[in-house]
Amino acid sequence: MSKNSARYFCNKDCEYYPCHPVGEEEEFNCLFCYCPLYALGDKCGGNFRYNGKGIKDCSACMIPHREGGYEYVMERIRG
Ligand code: SF4
Repeated sequence: MSKNSARYFCNKDCEYYPCHPVGEEEEFNCLFCYCPLYALGDKCGGNFRYNGKGIKDCSACMIPHREGGYEYVMERIRG
């Protein structure tokens, strides 16, 4: 993943970084910090769960943050 791309950036100075578990050598893309697919509910295709209050919890999902995440999100948005 090119670091000079509009499809990728990583802010390691963010107070929440890393907001998901990420390996040392893994590139972490912060572009979709708030996933645009959240609104798709259980149709997003990600690794979510619903908590006891019925709130969608995406903390285990790395799709938007990994290589290919940008393309995945854009493809799902286009339908
Ligand atoms: S972060 Fe993952 S589980 Fe949450 S909406 Fe996006 S794709 Fe779905």
